[in-house]
Amino acid sequence: MSVPHIEIKAGAAGPGRIVILGAGPTGLGAAYRLKELGYSDFRMYDRNPYLGGLAHSFVDDAGFTWDIGGHVMFSHYKYYDEVFDRLMGDEYTLNDRESWVRMMDRWVPYPFQNNIRHLPPQVTYECLSGLIKAQNGKGKVPSPAAATNFGEFIDAVFGDGIARHFMRPYNFKVWAHPPEMMNKQWIGERVAVIDVDRAVKNVVLGTDDFGWGPNNRFKFPLRGGTGEFYHRFDRVLKGSYDLNTRVLAIDVDEKTVTFEGGRTERYGTLVSTMPVDVLLRNVLVSKRGTIPASIRNTAQRLRHSSGFMVGIGIRRPCPSTKSWMYFPDDNCPFYRVTYLSNYSPFMTPEPYREVEPGKDGFPDDGPRRNGRFYSLLCETSASEFKPVNEATIVEDTIQGLINAGLMTEDERADIVSTWLYKAEYSYPTPSVDRDEILSEVIPWLESHGVYSRGRFGMWKYEVANTDHSLMQGVELVNRLLLGEKETTIGVVYKVTEDGRNAADHERSVVAGSGEKRLAANA
Ligand SMILES: Cc1cc2nc3c(=O)[nH]c(=O)nc-3n(C[C@H](O)[C@H](O)[C@H](O)COP(=O)(O)OP(=O)(O)OC[C@H]3O[C@@H](n4cnc5c(N)ncnc54)[C@H](O)[C@@H]3O)c2cc1C
Repeated sequence: MSVPHIEIKAGAAGPGRIVILGAGPTGLGAAYRLKELGYSDFRMYDRNPYLGGLAHSFVDDAGFTWDIGGHVMFSHYKYYDEVFDRLMGDEYTLNDRESWVRMMDRWVPYPFQNNIRHLPPQVTYECLSGLIKAQNGKGKVPSPAAATNFGEFIDAVFGDGIARHFMRPYNFKVWAHPPEMMNKQWIGERVAVIDVDRAVKNVVLGTDDFGWGPNNRFKFPLRGGTGEFYHRFDRVLKGSYDLNTRVLAIDVDEKTVTFEGGRTERYGTLVSTMPVDVLLRNVLVSKRGTIPASIRNTAQRLRHSSGFMVGIGIRRPCPSTKSWMYFPDDNCPFYRVTYLSNYSPFMTPEPYREVEPGKDGFPDDGPRRNGRFYSLLCETSASEFKPVNEATIVEDTIQGLINAGLMTEDERADIVSTWLYKAEYSYPTPSVDRDEILSEVIPWLESHGVYSRGRFGMWKYEVANTDHSLMQGVELVNRLLLGEKETTIGVVYKVTEDGRNAADHERSVVAGSGEKRLAANA
């Protein structure tokens, strides 16, 4: 497959040979854009035997397809959409986002804070009362602006009740870090904030706010799971990358990359998408002592969580139309479960067929999909603050599904497949000092020709989804070859007196991608 070529307006020096470390969405975005610009002096490497990184999908022996955690594609970019269309054509499904919270043995539609009427009356009262106090500046923390971390932000915005019953327990399960260790800047569009009047109205009038509908649909590859999109980059990039190729060392003085097996390659510019703490701890070397200990040590202060992805394949028709569900309670290890088989008929050993309720012997309120199998993908986070027993996580997950009311005890007999994947690096924690750390580390790397980008290359959760990651790669190439500014990473570049590019990290004053109020004040 060819891509349209665009004329390069880069200066005379140019980036030289570009080596891309990692073939996840970020590396693929960079390589795709280089191809599109007709720049052939590059090569991409990945230690895995496949393209896609954390966005890869696996097919197990029973024929179930699994993603590394529920991947939902909500694109923020026209460019990303166009790449998707070019590679996927019409081979995708369009799904309604139907998300729920499961707690206290009941279902609460998401966003939780707008639907608290579904909770027991005492809990509804505590949530509403705390919310009103908080919003009137009478809570523990007087205002979101006064909050110095995510924990305080939760108290300031949602009040004591919602914090205690949902926000704090749920967020600890997701992040595996106390919210006091996290900053408030990443929130942006990631945490639905609150309209008090709407919350009160829904309780008093008994109405619901569903966060889904025609405007909230997401695309999903028809076959092969999320990873299929990224595997298809091979159609454009064939011959420009090597898999099964681990990078062991990068010499910042000699500008060489050393691979497992001893082979070395020179580069002019290095794009790294591996975790930046690992890069500085284990991979970057200098015989001349170029790398300051302070830079190496500072990067080690970045925090992350690991994730256990457990897939449960069941020989039964799917009992639900839900997309995914959140679990704040401690009766189950996971924070999120996805009905993955609802995303496409081809995620299970046999495809299902859509049926019309009330016809062909199907009840009005029964299953809408006639298939013999369905699948649940369950995600559990782990860290030093939240240890998880790898040996028992599959059984703990099954028991959790039963405790939470998603499966019955006798359904155990219908489990035909279990799948486990551990992501050592799953969520980049937006810790309170993250932006300061990045503001030291990223510019230093760049001044030595190393551009660290992507979910763990840039460590910004708020711009670490597949679309953001791919665009971080694209925008970096646009900067290197066309002199354009990168926007996604939130780093603004100024030309300094000595003519070199310097990075000014704006995240410490301006919050994540959606926080318009703070952005306006900055
Ligand atoms: C649990 C979970 C849920 C997610 N949900 C969503 C979602 O709903 N929607 C969404 O859009 N995104 C989601 N994502 C995010 C998505 O997976 C990432 O945005 C994306 O994979 C990041 O791409 P990347 O290229 O930056 O990093 P990665 O995908 O991590 O790729 C980095 C690559 O570098 C390679 N590498 C590392 N070290 C070396 C080495 N020494 N030598 C050679 N190669 C190396 C790795 O093998 C890897 O392939 C989710 C991620 C997780 C973990």
